[in-house]
Amino acid sequence: MLTINEIFHSIQGESTHTGRPCVFVRLTACDLRCSWCDTPYAFTEGRKMSIDDVISRVDTYGCDLVEITGGEPLLQRDVYPLMEQLLASGKTVMVETGGHRSIKDVPADVIRIMDVKCPGSGESDKNHWENLDLLTSRDEVKFVIRDRSDYEFAKDIVARHDLLGRTAAVLFSPVHGVMPAKDLAAWILADHLPVRLQLQAHKYIWDANTRGV
Ligand code: SF4
Repeated sequence: MLTINEIFHSIQGESTHTGRPCVFVRLTACDLRCSWCDTPYAFTEGRKMSIDDVISRVDTYGCDLVEITGGEPLLQRDVYPLMEQLLASGKTVMVETGGHRSIKDVPADVIRIMDVKCPGSGESDKNHWENLDLLTSRDEVKFVIRDRSDYEFAKDIVARHDLLGRTAAVLFSPVHGVMPAKDLAAWILADHLPVRLQLQAHKYIWDANTRGV
């Protein structure tokens, strides 16, 4: 069984898959409290569903791209058989994780979008650093950036772990409504840093506080 916050069909707003229709499966609960978290409703709200029920609901949307997110999806043990069964049914499966839980048991065919928490989140001491060694050329790593010191932190981690050479993409995402995207763009350009500036597309298509999109 899984505790599910919401399942919905929308446009992928993050990662290199931005713009693609996608079914989102949002799992309940998180053991972090990032200062800029935009899904606090997923901390506790949810209902129990069997894996088969989740798969049936996903199938109703007729969409081959599925993202498992949260909250923190890797907190629930049954997320692993869910990922296996979605893959077996022919879906392209992505998981978005906060980066503080080990990703070692995520099936190899799942695309991992993993956060590295910067100091501005208030949770950077929780990063599970061993995860960085497990990332592959399928995976993407995301830094949510609140200010210049977060940017310097992210830049240092990217260089020290050769993340640009070892992953599909390094995403620098400004905290919506706090960090001006044009300032982050200027820093990236000044440093000739080949990362991707990521804006959360769903917050521009819909209102930033709209749920289920
Ligand atoms: S890890 Fe994600 S869900 Fe958890 S508090 Fe941070 S942003 Fe929110």
